[in-house]
Formats: sequence, C-alpha cells, structure tokens
Amino acid sequence: MLKFALAGNPNSGKTTLFNNLTGSTAHVGNWPGVTVDKKEGTYKKCAEPISIVDLPGIYSLSPYTPEEIITRNFILDEQPDCVINIVDATNLERNLYLTTQIMEIDVPMIIALNMIDEVKKSGATIDGKTMEEKIGIPVVEISALKGIGIDLLMKRAYEVCKEKRKGTTVLKNSALSHLINDVKIALSGSGKVDNPLFHAIKLVEMDVLEKEAHKELIKLVDDFKETFDDDVFGSDFEAVVADSRYKYISANFSTVLTKPKSDDKGFTKSDKIDLILTHKWWGIPIFLIIMFAVFHLTFSEDLFYLGTLGIIPDNFVSLKGTIFEGLLGSGAVNSPGVILFNFLDSCTGALNDIIVAAMENNSQWAVSLVSDGILGGIFSILSFLPQILILFLFFSILEDSGYMARAAFILDRIFRKFGLSGRAFLPMIMGFGCSVPAMINTRTLADENERTATIRVIPFFSCGAKLPILTAIAGGIVMQFGVGNADVITYSMYILGITVAVLSVMFMKNTTMKGDSSPFIMELPAYHSPQFKNLMLHLWDKVKHFIKKAFTIILASSIVIWFISHFSWNWEYLPEKQINESILAGIGQLIQPIFTPLGFGSQLKSFGWVFVVAAITGLIAKENVIATLGTLAATISSGFVANEALGGIDSVTQIINATEITIPALLAFIAFNMTTIPCFAAVATAKAELSKKRFNYTLLFWLAVSYIVGSVIYITGSWWWSVFIFAVIAFVTVIGIVLKNRYKPAVKKQKENN
Ligand code: GDP
Ligand code: MG
Repeated sequence: MLKFALAGNPNSGKTTLFNNLTGSTAHVGNWPGVTVDKKEGTYKKCAEPISIVDLPGIYSLSPYTPEEIITRNFILDEQPDCVINIVDATNLERNLYLTTQIMEIDVPMIIALNMIDEVKKSGATIDGKTMEEKIGIPVVEISALKGIGIDLLMKRAYEVCKEKRKGTTVLKNSALSHLINDVKIALSGSGKVDNPLFHAIKLVEMDVLEKEAHKELIKLVDDFKETFDDDVFGSDFEAVVADSRYKYISANFSTVLTKPKSDDKGFTKSDKIDLILTHKWWGIPIFLIIMFAVFHLTFSEDLFYLGTLGIIPDNFVSLKGTIFEGLLGSGAVNSPGVILFNFLDSCTGALNDIIVAAMENNSQWAVSLVSDGILGGIFSILSFLPQILILFLFFSILEDSGYMARAAFILDRIFRKFGLSGRAFLPMIMGFGCSVPAMINTRTLADENERTATIRVIPFFSCGAKLPILTAIAGGIVMQFGVGNADVITYSMYILGITVAVLSVMFMKNTTMKGDSSPFIMELPAYHSPQFKNLMLHLWDKVKHFIKKAFTIILASSIVIWFISHFSWNWEYLPEKQINESILAGIGQLIQPIFTPLGFGSQLKSFGWVFVVAAITGLIAKENVIATLGTLAATISSGFVANEALGGIDSVTQIINATEITIPALLAFIAFNMTTIPCFAAVATAKAELSKKRFNYTLLFWLAVSYIVGSVIYITGSWWWSVFIFAVIAFVTVIGIVLKNRYKPAVKKQKENN
C-alpha cells in the first residue's frame, strides 16, 4: 500500500487534515503539540488505497525533543511514497523554514497550503501558483477544516508519488555551498548513504545525530572551519545555515502573502482581542472569572444568583406536584448541569425500583448484589455524566477558540519568574481532560528535569474521572450542612489543584530539579469560532470512554467491593447491620488510623473505614471513589436490605450521617484524592515516560503531597489558629531554600572556571 506522511509545524492543521482524509476522529487541539505520536489511517478516494501517517508537529529537522526525532526518522527511514508538507498560510514564513529542510531529502513531496479560509477571511490574498514556480514543488491551496481543495491535493500527491525526486536545497547561494557540495560528494562516494544532500547539510550544521553517524567526515568540516571567515557568525555553522534559509524565504516569499487588513496601528482582530484577554493586569483575573463562569454554569443550584438576589419568588419553578418537581430548582433556578443531573438521577432511581420489583422472588442477597452492588456503583457515577460533558463542552470551546493557548501564555508570564516555562502548562492544562495523554504530551518538553516535574504535577489538574468526587462531596456538604455552594466548592478545589501544582514545581525547581527553563516559543494561534462537529467529536469520545469504563473497571470493582463488604473472613454472608464484621471493614480499619491527621481516620465512628476503602479503590480508577461510597451507602444507612441504588450525592449524605465526618475532613478527603497517586492508567504512563528511579520518587512524591495537603486542610479547617503554625513552617522552608541557593551557584561557577 502507498504510504503518505503528513509533516508540518505544530498547530498547522495536520490532524484536521488527517481526520478529513481518513474519516477518523483523532484529537484536534488549538495549541501546539497535541499529536505526539504518529497515527495511521487509510485514504480510499484515489485509484488505490493510501495509508496516511500523521506525524508529530515540528519546527525543524534538527531534533531536540523526542517528537522531533520521531518525525525525522520516519521520513528518513520509512521512506514514505510522498510527504505532504502542511504549511499554515497565516504563518507562511515561519512554516517554510521546515519546508526548506524537507526539500533536501530525496522523497516525493507536495505542499498543502492550509488555512486558506482564514487567509481569505482576514482579507489577505495568497498566491500558490507563484509560490510553486519559485520553490519548484507542487503547491495546493486547501482548508483542512472546511474541506476545500482536499481532493485536488490528493490527486496531485498521487501523481507526485509516482516519480522519484532528488533533494534540492535553497542554500545554493550561501557561503557554505562549496562545503556542502564537498561533503555531499564524499558521502555519495562512500555509496552507503541515502539522502546525501540532506546528511551533508546536517553535518555542516554539526547536528548531533549526524556527527555520531559520520565520524569520518568531521575532519573535513573542521578543516573548512579554519578557513571559514565570517564576521557575523564566527564558526557557528548552524546559525549560518539557519540565517541563509530565512534570507531565502523572506527574499522570495514575503510577497506571496499580502498581509491581512489591519487598522492604522497594524493590529488584526485577534491582536485586538489579545490586548484585553492577555493584558498584563487583567489577564489573570479574566482567566479566573471565565473559569468560574464555566463552573457556575455546570454546578450551580442558583443560576446567576437569581435566587439570592430575590428575583425568583419562592417556589416559582419548583413545579410542585408534577413529575418534574425540584428538577429546575426551587426558589432559584438550577444551572443546566444540575437540571440534567437531577433528571438522570431520578431516571436511574426509577430504573432501580423496576429492577428490584422484578427480582421479587430472588433471594435477599441476590437482590442486594444487583441493587446495592452493581447498580449502586454504576449509577452513582453515571448520574454525573451530564455535568462532566457540560464541563468538557466548555473546556473544548475554550480550547478550540484558541483561548486555552492564551491561558498558558498568561500563566507563563508569571511563572517564568519562578523558573517554570509556560510550555509545560500546555500538558498540565490537558490534564483537566485526562492525565494519560497529558503525560505523553510532555515529550514536547526538551528539558528532562522539566519533563519529570511536569509529569508529577499533571494529576493535580483534576481530570474528568475525579469530577464525581468533587461534585458528590460538594453536593453532600451543601445538602447535609446547608452551607456553601456546590459550584464554589468545586471551583475552589480546581484552583487548589493548580496552586498545589505550581507550588510543587517551584519547590522541585529550587531543590532537586535545578535548571533553566527552556524558552517558550509558542505561537499564539488566531482566534476562530469553535467548530460544532469538532466539539461533538470531543464529547462523543468522552461519552464512549466513560461508558466503557463504567461497564468494565467500575462494574468489576463494585462487584468485588460488594462481595468483600457482605461476607466475613470465614466467607459467611452477613445478616443485617454487621457490615463492620466484613472483610472490607477489617482491611479498612487496619489502615484507617494513618488518616487521622486528615480527619477521616480514628476520629470517625464505626463506619469511618468507608472513606479509606473508597480512596484505595480510587487507585484503580478515580470514579471508583464515589462508586464505592455508592455501593456501601445504602447498606450502612439502613441495614443490608436497602436495595436502593443511591445517587452520588445521596450516598455521600448517608455516609456523612453515619460517620459524623466534619466539613474540613470532607474537604481534606477531596484534596487527598485529587493529589494522591492517580489511577492505574496514569501510573502506568508515568512509569513508561520516566526512568525507574524517578518513577519511584514520583510515587513517593504523590503520597507525600496528598498527605500534607490533606492534613493542612483538615487541621487549619478545624483549628483556625493553626494557620500561623503552617505559615511559620512555610516561611522557614522558603528561607532555607533561598539560603541554600545562595551558596550553590558559587560552587557551580567555580566548576565552570576549571
Ligand atoms: P496539528 O497540531 O498540526 O495537528 O493541528 P490541528 O489539526 O490540531 O489544528 C490546529 C488548529 O487549527 C485547530 O483549532 C483547527 O481547528 C485549526 N485548523 C486546522 N485547519 C484549519 C483550516 O483549514 N482553517 C482554519 N480556519 N482552521 C484550521
Ligand atoms: Mg496534531
């Protein structure tokens, strides 16, 4: 089968084109680095089927990061039949830098000039024909998003792939052309090397990989270096080559694109929006407000505070006496998320009743297994699905419009002062979705220390699976104690996660993970309105993932939990109210005392072990935390013959009642679960991405952070004056680090001098 590779800069639209060509639904994100591994699919509309490979985005073929190496090696070693080089027309000159390098490889090639719709919309024009003549490679104008020009692109690519192509270079007129030629002849002469032109140029650039591969030729280059006399670059050949490329590009292509319309000061529409959204002072508050709005719309039971403001009369929307009672709220309007939650909650309740009624003739324990065990576990999670989807709909809109990339940019400006790079914030923000792809995305970070630190804090960016923990417990607190708002509590916990992440990175950067942060060269993508299809694909992915998990891991865990909570050590089925004799209770009670500083240890009454057990099952999948509470709640509150699958919030209130746990302890419980060892899948990913030693320390780090954060929350929440003790500890730590750093650089400098 023919094989075509998609190569281009990050964020140039490769994955969008890939999805368009292959009909697949790979993740498209409006920020660089979303695709870090190569993906394959099939294009079927040509004379023969063509395998399409989506490569990670890169700026250059001189690799520094693992993803750049993947792309370079793929083109060189796998010899695709054609390379489709995607060029973002709105960033033409920067994108062509990579083009001038791919050209040097002996591989059939075509340029897809993407985002043509964006160019036209901004009032600019682009001239693909002239470009093709000048660069000597077929150019097709396309819009991957709108599906314009795709068929023509593939038709021409198909023609191109039938002919061999020799590499060409734009460095012909550069000061180094003689040297390049000599090295090329030497390489070809050996007869062993494919792509002599490409390798010759990389060797002249003194590319690390190339120097290792062709040690025998280093002398040739070195000899030339002696004779080379350039005032500007000295003997930094890499810089000479880069400079020649850019000179060629701007001499030939600056006229291909007539710049978009801008006002007198030269601002485009995106620039103007950015003046406000990425403002030095307003940027952060706007970010926080936007995030709060998202949480408010998803979790609030008093939408826009209409109830608090007295705009809604009491019982206005309670729909008393109808089947919709309480759905929309009473005395206040529920947010869309809460309305859907209530709706699903009553549906699952009704479904449970039907099933229990149908099982009337079965034995007591079978009914309990189905109702409390299986349905209780799954339903307590499933009812949160609407809220998860709404939250992710908002996140997707923010991401697709280009705002999330700004968020990273705003945060970068602040955290750079503390030695962190904003580039690391992109994978962190991805962590809001799921830690697994986020950890893989850290491959875009060049610095190994920064990568490790980032992987460690990604789980603190609370993922979708942790959301039910936050929502159920926040809901439980509001219901049981009548204090606070669910949206404020969830939002604060998210902010807490971010804060802990930042503090941890600062701490690591100043102690074990020293090093300069790499510069943040992210280009801010232009704003565009989110695509409906794209948003739906994201959500559909979430639904599929969620349902699959609910009926596999969570179902299996719930059944296991039910069994070990309903049987004793001698494997007897326990009669009513003896759950404390169960296997599960035994294990839980053994570990429980450890959590006393966090408020859910020894101080809780007899059912206190439930929290410990829930946290442990969360190590398999974080949804399990609430699913476990769901499985145990009915039994605990009313004996073994409960047979009602309680929703997530109801199970939490039941357990609060039974254990008399306090609010600070509940908050500590949330924080502990958010920051402790993540789910099994995330742990496996971290293990694959880190060295063995660093991985072991990472596990310890997660345990330590969650224990400390949980304790601080519980203790300060219970005894306010203890804030001062922690403040002193924090102060001493900071002073200690500062003093230690004062001493360290002096030693380092001395080493450099030697
Ligand atoms: P990749 O990093 O190269 O894989 O880029 P993606 O495919 O993830 O796309 C980056 C962003 O550019 C996304 O927000 C896309 O919706 C957007 N995009 C891709 N192609 C086009 C296009 O032809 N026109 C416009 N206006 N936007 C596009
Ligand atoms: Mg991509």
